[in-house]
Amino acid sequence: MAYKIIKLKKGKEESLLRFHPWVFSGAVASLPEDIEEGDLVNVVSNAGKFIGVGHYQIGSIAVRILSFEEQEINDNFFIERLSAAYQLRKTLNLIRPDNNAFRLVHGEGDFLPGLIVDIYGNTAVVQAHSPGMHYARNIIANALVAIEDAGIKNVYYKSETTLPYKAQLDPQNDYIIGSFETNIATENGLKFHVDWLKGQKTGFFVDQRDNRKLLEHYAKDRNVLNMFCYTGGFSFYAMRGGANLVHSVDSSSKAITLTNANVELNFPGDTRHKAFAEDAFKFLNEMDNNYDLIILDPPAFAKHRSALKNALIGYRKLNAKAFEKIKPGGILFTFSCSQAVNKDQFRLAVFSAAAQSHRKVRILHQLTQPADHPINIYHPEGEYLKGLILYVE
Ligand code: SAH
Repeated sequence: MAYKIIKLKKGKEESLLRFHPWVFSGAVASLPEDIEEGDLVNVVSNAGKFIGVGHYQIGSIAVRILSFEEQEINDNFFIERLSAAYQLRKTLNLIRPDNNAFRLVHGEGDFLPGLIVDIYGNTAVVQAHSPGMHYARNIIANALVAIEDAGIKNVYYKSETTLPYKAQLDPQNDYIIGSFETNIATENGLKFHVDWLKGQKTGFFVDQRDNRKLLEHYAKDRNVLNMFCYTGGFSFYAMRGGANLVHSVDSSSKAITLTNANVELNFPGDTRHKAFAEDAFKFLNEMDNNYDLIILDPPAFAKHRSALKNALIGYRKLNAKAFEKIKPGGILFTFSCSQAVNKDQFRLAVFSAAAQSHRKVRILHQLTQPADHPINIYHPEGEYLKGLILYVE
C-alpha cells in the first residue's frame, strides 16, 4: 500500500526485525512533511527495505507496528485479527454459559497495539490508546459485530481518558453500534453489574479472574479483608468459598455502592458482608487484628518509570501494615499492576515489608495476569500484573 513512509536511522531496525512492535522516535531518520497523528505508515530501513506497517503518533513511541508484512490495514485486516483473538478465547474456554466476561483484545498481546476490547455478554467495550486506533474505531466496531459466532451486538467506545491528552482528538464516550441492554455480566458463575458508562477502565477488572478463583479456594471459615475492592470481585468469591466474614474497603464511595449491589446480586441478605468507603491506610491503621485473609490490590502506584522509587516505598509500606496486622496462620494476596515495576522489584518491596514485621513468611503462589491478557513474547512490556500469595505465621 502506498502509505506515507518513515525511514529509520541506520541499524535502528534491529528490534523490529525481532518483531518488537514499537518504533521509538529516536530511531526515526526522516518523517514525511505532511504526516499527521494517527496516519498509517510504512516503516523502512535506512536502505529503504520494508520493515512494517503501523500507526504513527507524536511522542516517544513514534509508530506502533500492526503488521510486519506489507499489507493493507483495512476492514479485512481487523476482521481477521479480531476473529483470531476470539478463537484464542474460545480455546481458553472463557466463553461459557457461566462466563461471559473476558478480554478479547489485549493490545500488543493480540497483535493490535493501542487497542483494548473487553466483552461483557453481547456488549464490547473498546478503548483506544493510540490516535490510529481512535480513527479506526468505526472499522473496529463493524469488525467486532462481524466476528462469526461471537454474538456481539453492542459496541461502546470509551476512550475519553486513554488517548494521549495532547492529541486533542476529543473522543466522546458513546455507543458506536447498538445501545444499552443489560450491564449484568457473569464470571465463573458469579454475577456483577459492569458500569462501563462511568466506571474505571472498561467497568470491571477482568484481569483478576483467575486470582479471584484461587482466593475462593482459600476463603473457607476465614475473616476476609478485601482492600481496594472496587466492584467487589474478590469479595463475592470469598463468600462463595465459605468465608466467615468479608469486609470490602475502597476510598471511592461509588465503588462501595457497586460492591454492595454486586453482593446483593449474588448473596441477597447475606450479613457476612460489610463495605466501607475509607482510605486504605486509615483503615489498616485503625482496624483490629482479626483478619486472617487479606487482599491488597491497589491501583498502579507507578504509571511511569519516573515514579518507580516512590511506588516501591508505597508497596513496602502498604504490605508492612498487612504483615503487622494479619492473624497468625493468615494468608495475604498482594498485587501490583504497575507496568513500570517488575516482578523482582515488587517481590523485593514485599520482602522488605515482611522483614520489617519479623513475621515468618512463605510464598505459596506467584501470580500473574490471566491468559486472555496474553504477552507477546517479543514485547515483554506487556507483562504488568504481579501477585504473591503468602502464608504468614
Ligand atoms: N481489586 C479490584 C480492583 C482494584 S482497582 C477488583 O478485583 O476489581 C484499585 C481500587 O483502589 C480503585 O477502586 C480505587 O478507587 C481504589 N483506591 C485508590 N486509592 C485508594 C486508597 N488510598 N484507599 C482505598 N482505596 C483506594
